[in-house]
Amino acid sequence: MIYHADLNLTNRCELRCKYCHSSSGQPKKDELSQSEWIRAIKKLHESGIQSISFAGGEPMLHPEVIPLVNYACSLPSFRVALITGGAFNHDLLKRLPTSEHQFSISLSIDHYEQAKFNLTRPPRQGYRSSYSFESAIATAEALGMLGISWSVNTVLTSTNAPEIEELYTFVVKRLGAAGLLLIVCANIGRGSKSDGQGLPYSQFKERLLYWTEQKSKGLLSAMRISTISPWEFYLPLAEMGIELAECENLWHYSTPSRFDALEACDTSDTTGITEIAIDSNGDIYPSVLLSGLQSARLGNILNSDLNFIQNSSIFQQFQKPKPYLTYPACSTCLIVRQCRGGSKARSFWLMGSTLSMDPFCPRASDLVSPS
Ligand code: SF4
Repeated sequence: MIYHADLNLTNRCELRCKYCHSSSGQPKKDELSQSEWIRAIKKLHESGIQSISFAGGEPMLHPEVIPLVNYACSLPSFRVALITGGAFNHDLLKRLPTSEHQFSISLSIDHYEQAKFNLTRPPRQGYRSSYSFESAIATAEALGMLGISWSVNTVLTSTNAPEIEELYTFVVKRLGAAGLLLIVCANIGRGSKSDGQGLPYSQFKERLLYWTEQKSKGLLSAMRISTISPWEFYLPLAEMGIELAECENLWHYSTPSRFDALEACDTSDTTGITEIAIDSNGDIYPSVLLSGLQSARLGNILNSDLNFIQNSSIFQQFQKPKPYLTYPACSTCLIVRQCRGGSKARSFWLMGSTLSMDPFCPRASDLVSPS
C-alpha cells in the first residue's frame, strides 16, 4: 500500500546545490500545467495516498504553486508538506495555507555562515554569491512574521558536519525553527560527483556518536536524522556497543522495517512499497532518488492506473526482499534485522538491481559516500 508521494513540481531552481539528487536547474519542456497537477493530486488522494510533499527543483517557482498547495490542503485527511530553498518572491508566503490544514514547511539551510552556506548551495550564474543564503534567511524571517510554523532541513556534508551544534542554535534559537532534520547525503544525481560533499563513514560515525552523547545530556532535543538506509543510523552505534533502543528514543528514530507493509516484504526500504515519486512531467518512479532514471519509470500519472502500475515488473522488483542472508557482510552483521541489506534505490541506481547489497554500506565499501 502506497501512503506517500513526493511531487517534483518543477525542475526549475535558481540554486545549484552540489548534492542535488534531481540535478535541478532548468524547467523540463513538458512540465505539467495547473489543471494536470490538479488531476494528478486528485488521483493520488482517491487512490488512498495519505500524504504528499511538494518539492523540486524549487516548488515555489512553479507559476501555479499557490492554488496547487491550497487545493491539496482542501482534500480530507491529506497531509501536505512543502520543501523549499527560500529563493522566491516572499509575497507568495501570505497566500499559503496555515498549519491547521495539516500543512508543514521545511526550509533548507545548511550553514549559518554565508561563505560556507555557499560552498554547498551556490546560486546559478548571474546571481551574486550571497543570494542563496540571504534568500533562505529572509524566508525564515518572513515565516516567523506571518506566524507560520516551519522547520529546517540540513543536508549533512563534509562542510557543515563539524558545526551542526552552532547551526542548530542559529536556526532553532535565533530564527525560531521548530526543529532541524539532518539529512544524510544521497550521493545521487549531482551528488554523485566528486565534489558532492558526502561525508566519509569514519567522520559520520564520530559525529553521530558525539550528537547522541549531547542528546543524552538533554541538548539538541529538536534535532532528528533522516537516512537513506537504516544502517546509517544503527551501524555506527552498534559498532560502539551502544544500546540501540535508547538511541532510538533520543533521536525519535525507528527502522522502517518495523512497519507492517515493509515487514511483509522483508525489507527496510520504503521505495516503491509505501512511497512513490512523481516527476515534473508526471512520470512516476518508485522513489524520488530514482526520478528521471528511465529504467525505473513506472508510467505517467495522467494516463496510468496506480493499481496497474503496482503490477508492473519494475514495481514488483521493489517488493522482493534482498537475499541479504546470502551476502557475507550482512549474514554476520549486528544490525541485519534493522537493515536487511540496505537501500534498494541505491542498489538499483548504481548496480542495476534491487537484489544486490547496498553499495554504500561501509561493511562493503568503507565509505558512506564517494569523496
Ligand atoms: S552489512 Fe548488510 S545488513 Fe549490515 S549494515 Fe551493511 S547492508 Fe545493512
